Amino acid sequence: MYAYSACGGGDLSKSHEILSMDEFRGVKAQPVGVVVVTDSASETKAHRTNCQWVTEESFEKKVIEGRNKNGRYYFFLRLEDAAQELGARECRSCGKTG
Ligand SMILES: [Zn+2]
Repeated sequence: MYAYSACGGGDLSKSHEILSMDEFRGVKAQPVGVVVVTDSASETKAHRTNCQWVTEESFEKKVIEGRNKNGRYYFFLRLEDAAQELGARECRSCGKTG
């Protein structure tokens, strides 16, 4: 099982790139945090972990099959950090109003 505590001394780093399906599933199971998806063809979006657009299928296409050529997936604990570090914008479908 993927465990964030494996990163070291307890404090979570602000962001974490998601590189494997196991990690992706672990992140999807988190009740907190946001999944940030970068895309060479569109703007960087921050989604809630349970967003309908954050799917194993699209992760597999972009990261596993596409080898991060067209975009990457990151996990952030806070939307503010995602906005600051990657310029991520909140997804309209799962954002605060949804
Ligand atoms: Zn979303």
